[in-house]
Amino acid sequence: MRIEPCSFCSKPIYPGHGIMFVRNDARIFRFCGSKCRKNHNLKRQPKKTAWTKAHRRAAGKELMRDSTFEMERRRNRPVRYNRDLMETTVHAIRRINKIRSDREQRHHVQRMREAVAKMNAKETAQQAKAAATHQEVPEEIRAAAQAVQNMVPPKKAKISRPKQAQKEKVMVERNE
Ligand SMILES: [Zn+2]
Repeated sequence: MRIEPCSFCSKPIYPGHGIMFVRNDARIFRFCGSKCRKNHNLKRQPKKTAWTKAHRRAAGKELMRDSTFEMERRRNRPVRYNRDLMETTVHAIRRINKIRSDREQRHHVQRMREAVAKMNAKETAQQAKAAATHQEVPEEIRAAAQAVQNMVPPKKAKISRPKQAQKEKVMVERNE
């Protein structure tokens, strides 16, 4: 009995679980569930379907080539039972699983660090841009405010003056 990976999402399929589909050309597909089988029947490509391992590997989100994957490799050479070999293998499985999970964790941490650095760079760029525009705006506002302050009293005067002048003119005309 083997733990086979799902043909679509690469999830491990334990004995007694999943669906096996043998195509006309004798190629065997194993699916972890109806979701993967339906997606396969829809002729979807695992690499283009976001939730599959194939997609995650292609996007650099998973460990790709690692020596710990060698343990699970299919070996077509039959091995004669050997108690010592079995014992060392069982111990090796635990050790290798530990090493792989540590490496996966490290990979994730590294990935997140890169993502955070990228995000921070973007944020600082945005902040710098915002700061630059903010610096420009107060200057403009200050200039505009000063202009307005300078403008306002003369404006009123200007507005009132012509009227007064007109009135004066009118008065002058009437006086004449
Ligand atoms: Zn699946």
